[in-house]
Amino acid sequence: MAYVLALDQGTTSSRAILFDKQGRVAGLAQHEFAQIFPAPGWVEHDPVEILTSQLSAAVEVLGMAGATPRDVVALGIANQRETTIVWDRTTGKPVSNAIVWQDRRTAPMCSRLREEGVEETIRAKTGLLLDPYFSATKIAWILDNVDGVRARAERGDLAFGTVDSWLIWNLTNGKRHVTDRTNASRTLVYNIVEDRWDEELLRIFGIPANMMPEVVWSSEEVGRVTAQLGPVDVPIAGIAGDQQAALFGQLCTKPGDAKCTYGTGCFLLQNIGREFRLSGQRLVTTLACSTARKPEYALEGSIFIGGAVVQWLRDKMRFFSFAPDVEGIAASVEDAGGVVFVPAFTGLGAPHWDPYAAGMIIGIGRDTGIGHMARAAIESIAFQVADVLKAMDADTGIPCRELRVDGGAAANDLLMQFQADLLGIRVHRPAVLESTAQGAAYLAGLAVGFWNNVDEIAQTRGGSVFEARADRGQMEQRYGRWREAVERAKGWNRA
Ligand code: ADP
Repeated sequence: MAYVLALDQGTTSSRAILFDKQGRVAGLAQHEFAQIFPAPGWVEHDPVEILTSQLSAAVEVLGMAGATPRDVVALGIANQRETTIVWDRTTGKPVSNAIVWQDRRTAPMCSRLREEGVEETIRAKTGLLLDPYFSATKIAWILDNVDGVRARAERGDLAFGTVDSWLIWNLTNGKRHVTDRTNASRTLVYNIVEDRWDEELLRIFGIPANMMPEVVWSSEEVGRVTAQLGPVDVPIAGIAGDQQAALFGQLCTKPGDAKCTYGTGCFLLQNIGREFRLSGQRLVTTLACSTARKPEYALEGSIFIGGAVVQWLRDKMRFFSFAPDVEGIAASVEDAGGVVFVPAFTGLGAPHWDPYAAGMIIGIGRDTGIGHMARAAIESIAFQVADVLKAMDADTGIPCRELRVDGGAAANDLLMQFQADLLGIRVHRPAVLESTAQGAAYLAGLAVGFWNNVDEIAQTRGGSVFEARADRGQMEQRYGRWREAVERAKGWNRA
């Protein structure tokens, strides 16, 4: 048998998945690792544990499928983005724990830089916002706070990398210090207009240029695995940050193609083609995977609470014991009975960006039961996705005609049908919901000729389609009520 091995290095676990030529999952292994919370708002991972959990998942999945590294034609990596690691080039030892994307410790530095008036420069060059989420202030924090590190960095002794770089450096025994463009575009120091590390930005954040990895294409052979514990001699040929990997896994390779991942939160990305464009709707612009080896761009909007609203109904309200049970309860009523649920548990993300918005359920009457609440919760996921998609349409001027979906909550048929009805467009759910890992596998398989092109891959994809059926006027009216509710939830926690 011939397989592509995808490493899906996520925030809470490292997974390894084998894909066959039909794009089917031939085996999956998953190893969780520790989340380290040293102080309020701080989140760290042990880089060595990231590596060992990932290597052991890779070895385990080969065993499960009865395969050896010789059966693997290529390896692709999709990784948690922005998470920052600095290590010693000679010893291979990290100088500190990895600072995870969720970590907020650099908020004061972001405020200071904003006061210095550099945000517009940063936005124009990177497409991002000045926020602790991205890597640059995390690198600066390590340089300023870990003993002796700045001097070592200035001598050229240290390397920076996001998780993809760290894994590849180790898989190649220190031979390759690389990252791909999708990961580079999340660091806040990569100029995505001119396609290079940006000296002015590196200076603003005080980062020596010699720490930065070489930037490669997402679908390109960068080296072979030499680490004895890994899948030895397999070419490393695909790299992408998880969301861009999912965009590619959904084959959103043409301008206008969009995908939404419905997990804990929801991540929407739309391919906008070869021309850089800044959002006028508070979305970020980022690099997408390009097999043509020319920069391609995507707009991105993140929603903080998606499937997590279902978790909340399960764990805090105790309406049911298993997340999928929400569908039956929601289907027990015709509609939400006028209830609107704004799940702003941690403020609102794109396109509202209101950290002071509060969670709110409005429109409760004497007849309201848990069916209505469950339904309103499901609908709130779709309403938030509509907010982001409408912002994208306004930015690009091209209305999206089909939404491709994945992630745990995309298994919910009621949610998918409501999403199609609300948007008035088709929703396509592929047979394999592992789009992130699949994207990494496609990138690697295309680079080594396992697949010849995207059209050949498209032939292998089945799935379900949800067509828009509902009355447009009625849906517009319901969407209007949602927008009104959102306005009422905004700013509540400011007082
Ligand atoms: P993540 O990768 O963010 O951990 P997953 O893609 O595994 O998320 O999806 C899990 C989320 O989806 C959980 O928040 C869960 O509540 C929600 N979920 C799982 N099944 C369903 C379902 N049938 N309907 C709605 N939400 C669901």
